This record gives sequence, C-alpha cells and structure tokens, in this order.
Amino acid sequence: MFNYHNIKAYQDYLNQEEHGCQKAVEYYLNNIESNKNLNAFVEVYTEEAINKAKALDQKRKNGDSIGKLHGVVIAIKDVICYKDHIVTAASKILQHFTAQYNASCIQYLLDEEAIIIGCCNCDEFAMGSSNENSVYGNVLNAANPSKVPGGSSGGSAVAVQANMCMVSLGSDTGGSVRQPADFCGLVGLKPSYGVISRYGLIAYASSFDQIGIFGNNIYDVALILSVISKTDDFDSTMNASNDFIHIHEQLNLNDKKLKIALLKEVMNHPSLDKEIQSAIVNQCNELKNNGHEIIEADFSLLEYLVPTYYVLTAAEASSNLSRYDGIRYGHQSKKAIQDIQDFYIQNRTEGFGKEVKKRIMLGNFVLSSGYYDAYYTKAQQVRQLLINKMNELFQSCDAIIIPTSPTTAFNIGEKKKDPIEMYLADIFTVFANLTGIPAIAVPLFTHSNGLPFGLQILTKRDDEITLLQLAETMLSQKHTA
Ligand code: GLN
Repeated sequence: MFNYHNIKAYQDYLNQEEHGCQKAVEYYLNNIESNKNLNAFVEVYTEEAINKAKALDQKRKNGDSIGKLHGVVIAIKDVICYKDHIVTAASKILQHFTAQYNASCIQYLLDEEAIIIGCCNCDEFAMGSSNENSVYGNVLNAANPSKVPGGSSGGSAVAVQANMCMVSLGSDTGGSVRQPADFCGLVGLKPSYGVISRYGLIAYASSFDQIGIFGNNIYDVALILSVISKTDDFDSTMNASNDFIHIHEQLNLNDKKLKIALLKEVMNHPSLDKEIQSAIVNQCNELKNNGHEIIEADFSLLEYLVPTYYVLTAAEASSNLSRYDGIRYGHQSKKAIQDIQDFYIQNRTEGFGKEVKKRIMLGNFVLSSGYYDAYYTKAQQVRQLLINKMNELFQSCDAIIIPTSPTTAFNIGEKKKDPIEMYLADIFTVFANLTGIPAIAVPLFTHSNGLPFGLQILTKRDDEITLLQLAETMLSQKHTA
C-alpha cells in the first residue's frame, strides 16, 4: 500500500521500490476516481501519467541520474498552459481550447521529472473566493462537502486535501492560493511578485498575479519553489536576482530569533471570528516563550485594502480579457449576426459568466475618461501608500502574522447572493498582492465547528527564506505538541 508522507520520504522509498512511481500514480488515480463527487478535476491525464511513471521507474532501474522532482505527482490549475492539453480558465469562452506551448513553470517541472496528473477546477478566470463561478460547477470541501473549498484555486486545494496528488499549483491574485489552503487545512504559498514566471499563466490582473503552491508540508512547497522559481526571459517582471534553488535545504531557523508584528486593526476587526483571533494570539504567545519578540503595530489603512484591490484588478482584468473575442479562438456564437461588432458581443455574452462580466464592466467603468481619476488614479495612489506602509512595517519587524480568512469555510451558496460580502472576505489576503510581498497560509488549528484553519505569515519582498523558516517552526511545534 502506498503511503505518502513528504517528497523526501517518497524519494527514499523509490530507491527501494522498483515500481514506485507507477504505484504512486495508481494510488492517486484511484483516489481521484473515488472522490469524483468533489469535482476537483477538469481533466485527468490517466494514461499519460501511468506511462510517464513507468518510464521513470525504468530510468531508475537503468541507474540513470534522476531529476529533483523525480516521480512527484502534481496537479495544476486550469489557468496554466500545458502544451497539447486543454486550458480553459473554467470558462465557456475557452472550452475545448488546447494550449499551444508550456508555461515556463510547467517546463521546469517536466525538466525535473515531475508527473502532471491532471488539471483542476477553479473559479472562472480565477475570479472568486468560493469556487462557485466555474463552468464545470462547484468544487466541494473534502472536510465537509456542504462547505466551499475556497477559491479561486479550490480544485487545486481539494486535490491535495483529498490525497489526489502530492502537491499542486494554483494562482494567487488576491488570495486564491492562501484562502483555499486555509479552508482545506493545507500549506499555501504565494511567493513575492516576480519570483515565478507568469509566462503561460492566463492573466487575470497582471500586476498582482503570481503562481502559488499547495502542499501538505513546508518541505514539499519549498522544493517545488526551488524548481519553478528559475528565471525566465519570457517574463520581464521577474526579479532575476532571486536564487531559491536551495531553499528546501534552508528551512531551519536554528537559533535565529525574530521580531514578529501583530497588526492591531487586523486582530480587532469585527469580521474576525473570535476563535481564530484567540488561536493566533496563543500561537504568538508560544513564539514569545520560545524567545521571539512579538510587537503590536498600527495598520489604519486596513479598510482601503479591498476597495483598492477590486478597482485595480477589475481595471487590469477588463483589459486582459478584451482579447477573448471568439475570432481567432474561443467560443463562437451560432446566432445570426449583423456585423463584426455584433459578433464580438454575442461571443462574449455567451462565453463569459456573470462574475467575469461584472468585473469587465467595473473595470471599464473605472478606466473610463470621466471616472479614471476618481477611481483608477486614486486606487493607484492608495496602492503606493500601502507599499510605503509595508516598507515602514518591515523596518521594525522581520515578519507579520495575520489571519488568512476572517472565518472558516462557509456554506455553499451562503455568500453568492451578496458579492460585497464575498469580496470583503478577501480583506486579509489582498495586502500581499497589492504590495508584492510573499505570504503563506500555515494550517495549524481545528475550529470547534470541526473545520481546519490556520494563520498567515508575511515577510519583506523576496524574503521567502524567513517566511518558510517561521512557517516550518510553527508547524513542527504543532507536530511535537
Ligand atoms: N477572491 C479574489 C478575487 O476574486 C482573489 C482571486 C485570486 O486570487 N485569483 O479577485
């Protein structure tokens, strides 16, 4: 019986087990089959994954040198291009579209001999917090199927949560990796802006988007990061000075003592569940007992986060999504049309879902000549204030601890009727994207309602090392407690 602990243990096991990759892939394919009701996958690459596993098993048998991710079974979100496989952003407008090339991160995974097992359901064009905006239907939370798994990368989260793969990739524009990780009891990393190439990632809001990683533990997430953070000439927004190639070997804080900030306005926010609040405070007390310094800092800009985020991302989305006109590819209307304008309108009316249309309209509104200064320029100015505030905060601390989400996973349908309520639930995740800093959801607690939750760590831009070390410290304490 295949039993997964982490990638390191798996690769040790492969040294003793001739058909190890194949057994692993079969184990995950079985779990995918028996968890079909969760609706986590859009497509499963059954035959391809088995063939790849067999080839890798043979390679080891031949004594050939093996890749860093040899046999690691990965699922990807349906917004990342994998050559010759469908990529649809869970949208009717792209249904049946096949990727013409590999996203850079996919190429890096394949170069290191990972096995991609399938592509995962998500909110349409990564817009949502509950995975209720997909053309393929809702994804269910494996901890309690009446609850949402979070979004927009809900399928990628549930794929790891329900043992359908070892690790998975999502994308995080405003929390879409961290919030579902929180709702499903997983580690979810959004690296700094510019750490992972966005080449081959379907764009939502380009100055916010980052590919992120789901895993069961910090080591797995760090190992994937070490592979996919390689620089790439196809993405000019990458920070070429980063070098995370050994980050999975640097997870020990050793005796380093950190200065960690709690943000007053965040911890006292009325939307924050009391149990989540006290669990985080207790965790910080524990860190204090272990010699770290905990300070309290002000964050009076809190109420500006969500409005700023939604103005700017809608603006960028409306521009990014203008390319889907149904002419070169994508959904084409069968209705009788009068002219080319009418054809565009029909294709887009039929192809996009409600949430996406809402954002396109909002984006066009805030970019329109009459309102540009009142909304778009204003929001850019607030973004700069937030960046200044972030720089100021990190002058007096090494890391910030905040909740990931104000509540645990909510009921399916609960927030669907009230978009504002849904947007406000992103209050604690969007800061990292607005400022480009790294953030990680760390699964530490179980609520009295039985659902998992954790906390979120933020560090300075490009300080993924401190981020992962602190996360690893807390998780290992949890396991020894
Ligand atoms: N919930 C946020 C939104 O709908 C975040 C989405 C994301 O990170 N892709 O915009």
